[in-house]
Amino acid sequence: MKLDSLETLYVEELRDLYNAEHQILKALPKMAKAASSSNLQKGFQEHLQQTKGQVERLDQIFADLGKSPKGKKCEAMEGLLKEGAELLDAEAEPSVLDAALIAAAQRVEHYEIAGYGCVRTYAKLLGHGEATTLLQQTLDEEKSTDEKLTKLAVGSINTEAVEPEEQKKSSTQKRARA
Ligand code: FE
Ligand code: FE
Ligand code: FE
Repeated sequence: MKLDSLETLYVEELRDLYNAEHQILKALPKMAKAASSSNLQKGFQEHLQQTKGQVERLDQIFADLGKSPKGKKCEAMEGLLKEGAELLDAEAEPSVLDAALIAAAQRVEHYEIAGYGCVRTYAKLLGHGEATTLLQQTLDEEKSTDEKLTKLAVGSINTEAVEPEEQKKSSTQKRARA
């Protein structure tokens, strides 16, 4: 790969995100299915719909550039999602699994926030006004998803994971015996 201009870097980074989003499209339904909290399930499903729109924005940007969105694999997203998939195979307490799914999802969102922040700035520098707007919209969605995940974690899921069902049962037994 020859990185001879900011324009080249811009296209490369967009292709990386395009590939990352397609990997995320495949992973989100599995994560929604694995979640126990109905709010977390809803959160993943909503973000799946948003992600479809994000891919459409990228399609539009590539169409305007007259370039193909394909040709790059995001190795980092593959790694992040592989770690997430390992959770699905684990023998886990539902509330602990939910906390773990949030932790995995937030890693994904932070990667996207970094990526979209960069391409949005490049688009602006290169004078691609329409693309700047589209990329800013996606960046805002990724940020708000990250914030929603934090709220779910801090609001209930992490605290439920502190004392999952099994432990609750045994501590109730202990209390009953005492
Ligand atoms: Fe995304
Ligand atoms: Fe990447
Ligand atoms: Fe996202």
